[in-house]
Amino acid sequence: MARNSTFLESVDRMFSRAASLMDLPPGLADHIRECNVVYQLRFPVEIRGEIRTFRGWRAIHSEHRLPTKGGIRFSPNVSQSEVEALAALMSYKCAIVDVPFGGAKGAVEVDPREYTEEELERITRRFAADLVRKARLSPSLDVPGPDMGTGPREMGWILDVYKTFHPDDVNAAAVVTGKRPTASGIRGRHEATGRGLQYALREFFRHPDDVKKAGLEGGLEGKRIIVQGLGNVGYHVAKFLQEEDGAKIIGIVEWDGALVDENGLDVESVKQHIMEHGGVKGYGGATYVENGASVLEAECDVLIPAALEGQITEENAPRIKAKVILEGANGPTTAGADEILRRRGVFIIPDVYANAGGVTVSYFEWIKNLSHIRFGRLERRFEEMRGQQVIQALEELTGQPVPQSIRDVLTSAAGELDLVRSGLDDTMRNAYNEIKETLARRPEAEDMRTAAYMLAIEKISRAYLEHGVWP
Ligand code: NAD
Repeated sequence: MARNSTFLESVDRMFSRAASLMDLPPGLADHIRECNVVYQLRFPVEIRGEIRTFRGWRAIHSEHRLPTKGGIRFSPNVSQSEVEALAALMSYKCAIVDVPFGGAKGAVEVDPREYTEEELERITRRFAADLVRKARLSPSLDVPGPDMGTGPREMGWILDVYKTFHPDDVNAAAVVTGKRPTASGIRGRHEATGRGLQYALREFFRHPDDVKKAGLEGGLEGKRIIVQGLGNVGYHVAKFLQEEDGAKIIGIVEWDGALVDENGLDVESVKQHIMEHGGVKGYGGATYVENGASVLEAECDVLIPAALEGQITEENAPRIKAKVILEGANGPTTAGADEILRRRGVFIIPDVYANAGGVTVSYFEWIKNLSHIRFGRLERRFEEMRGQQVIQALEELTGQPVPQSIRDVLTSAAGELDLVRSGLDDTMRNAYNEIKETLARRPEAEDMRTAAYMLAIEKISRAYLEHGVWP
């Protein structure tokens, strides 16, 4: 094995470690591990007076549940094996958080920064047309979402292309998730992965045995956190942990260096600086470190890699000082680094569980699109009225007015965002506890990642065996 294995080799190694501890029917683990089908698409787009050919992929990893689900990444450095690794992680992730989808992933080899919005629209639409015609994109078979380099804008274009091909599909909006809330999306999707990471870390701190295992004490308040990548995932998790849990963000690592401040950085103002200047360099309110990667090795309680895969390797793993690694990115830790960190007792809350908030809320969005109604629309006023009736009854019984603070609680019914957050919180808590139960049942797993993979393999193999392996 190479010193630092590729992303796909890493995912396969982590999978195989878990599968080797299980008693599966012969051949089933191999079948689950491999991608079922990978479409490689080459498509032409006219750009600035010439025909440019782009390469894209859609990897369908596991169809034990349909539709398959997974984001579309726009990146100049993407490769087929990376897409396959990401698709595999999607299958395991969905199983762990009980989202009834198979795993998939897509990508286009393109640097979005090199193209205008109008050119990106043409590239996205052309890729989407190929996905509909050749790779069975549909609300019931394969449903993409956003990933690095894509967002609600691209999802809107993909939906529009699908509708052009299928104008009579009443469920068309469910063909893609991560859309704008005003364009058949759902409130809370944009923040969902960061929010899910926050819920996962809160759940960790509810388990004193895990907190102790990690060499920490107490709760989240005042904990020192370093975040790598202040994009969608990193920004939201850092902001929520700072503003709602009283954690201190003492380091932010970006592509052009890092910022450090023991007293805590202001996440919002750093984000503002990045939006204006493209990176963290030149930010006045903290110490700038040119070698950003070195800050991954700084003293802290929690390290949150939320940028790219392969950031914690066999090379830097021996020097990582974080007590807990909360994996926001997909595959930030290589399999070799994972072994080193396990031996060193670093507590890893693995990607395959921790960053599942995005797909969980995508699932809610898909259900909303299929049911054609906003969550809470039927019951909200009814709940408010019930609250009023309870207040009236209390006042009649006691002869005293109900204080305003209690009135507010009793009459505030949940809207869509409240319900989405509640469903996400419940999902992240349940999954954490299921992984812990798996670890208690199978202590030979030793760590949370292996237990999470075992849980995923148990659920996927059960689905295969219950349905039968049918030609
Ligand atoms: P993003 O493009 O919004 O953010 C990535 C951030 O990382 C950017 O701020 C970028 O400047 C920074 N970055 C790039 N190279 C870097 C480097 N070498 N060092 C430090 N920072 C660097 O992407 P995102 O959607 O936040 O995704 C980040 C990771 O999270 C990816 O691995 C993605 O697959 C994973 N993920 C995303 C979601 C989601 O809902 N967006 C869900 C699950 C997992």
